[in-house]
Amino acid sequence: MFDRASVVTPGGVNSPVRAFRAVGGTPRFMVSGTGPYLTDADGREYVDLVCSWGPMILGHSHPEVIAAVQEAVSRGTSFGTPGEGEVALAEEIVARIEPVEQVRLVSSGTEATMSAIRLARGFTGRAKVVKFAGCYHGHVDALLAAAGSGLATFGLPDTPGVTGATAGDTVVLPYNDLDAVRAAFAAHPGEIACVITEASPGNMGVVPPAEGFNAGLKELCAADGALFISDEVMTGFRTSKAGWYGIDGVRPDLMTFGKVMGGGFPAAAFGGRADVMAHLAPAGPVYQAGTLSGNPVATAAGLAQLRLLDDAAYAKIDAVSAELRSLVGDAFTKEGVAHTVSSASNMFSVFFTDQPVRNYDDAKKQEAFRFTAFFHSMLEQGVYLPPSAFESWFVSTAHDERAIERIAAALPAAARAASEATA
Ligand code: PLP
Repeated sequence: MFDRASVVTPGGVNSPVRAFRAVGGTPRFMVSGTGPYLTDADGREYVDLVCSWGPMILGHSHPEVIAAVQEAVSRGTSFGTPGEGEVALAEEIVARIEPVEQVRLVSSGTEATMSAIRLARGFTGRAKVVKFAGCYHGHVDALLAAAGSGLATFGLPDTPGVTGATAGDTVVLPYNDLDAVRAAFAAHPGEIACVITEASPGNMGVVPPAEGFNAGLKELCAADGALFISDEVMTGFRTSKAGWYGIDGVRPDLMTFGKVMGGGFPAAAFGGRADVMAHLAPAGPVYQAGTLSGNPVATAAGLAQLRLLDDAAYAKIDAVSAELRSLVGDAFTKEGVAHTVSSASNMFSVFFTDQPVRNYDDAKKQEAFRFTAFFHSMLEQGVYLPPSAFESWFVSTAHDERAIERIAAALPAAARAASEATA
């Protein structure tokens, strides 16, 4: 299948992280998923610790989500008009996340952050955007500039196809460094439209914000008249009922969502202060649109999933995560592998270093070659991890004792493989 895919699709995949470039080998083609398990085209079953990169928080093929999708599909798949499902999903988001007074539905996290930045620029009349190295906000041109760090470093495009002019309005700073943000505002007073950050980063591995970091960002933005955008595409509806906002309580001006809120379908959103959202077309002048935005099948899936995510569900996910973190940590300790199990609520990842990891530079200092050996041993033993040392692991309410036992049984050999690995 990979050979076939490679003929008709660049690199054989429709999103680069799915390829095994970082770890080598051939990506598994999955044909079905049930609860915490995925089954590949050769009939092998894996305990899934990727959960579609976050969305499948109830596990695969949850019967109530599937039923909601089937019911929606039976009424048609897209109308290109307003519909009740999108209103109900928006109401659910607004009810859960207090700073979100109004919300606009889109189809991907990338669209959400791209639109939020356009809105911030339109609202403030300013051009510059501050982002942090190691934070991923989708493949938005202006945000594919992560090169350089330090005092008001102007972003250099990370990829061909993004012009210097586009990246030139992006200021890339080291994560968890409020002094660098202060210096950027001092260097560009009245020019910064917004600061965008992952609410708690999971795209350089899991690197939580230091105490007071998000609050400090909010304060610096407010003092300068810039907007504070919290990207909760990954953390939203996962780290708590109200996402990371439910944990640190720092009130952003705008927020972005995706993944969990789509129930495995393409649905995402951005929202926040009503006075800012009022600048969005057709209420205001900042244009934003989408043929499939608020799609009735996607909103039915998302709504069904969110309604099942009550306090008990989060307690279960947190407990599964805690148990796995401890099993993983113990396995590495037993083999004498230098490691840090880094977590933010129920999101976690392993850094192969015993030094603190507070930003992307720290994360890159880990012995990532150990992850490659660990990953392949786990895969051989039927545990599917994200194929990169710089990604969060995701668990679901469906990860039961049997699934955890299978992971526990695979860990000793995989930890040994990590300890024996050479660069
Ligand atoms: N923002 C964050 C924090 C993400 O983790 C991602 C995707 O991983 C995105 C934005 C982009 O979302 P999408 O892949 O749906 O475009």
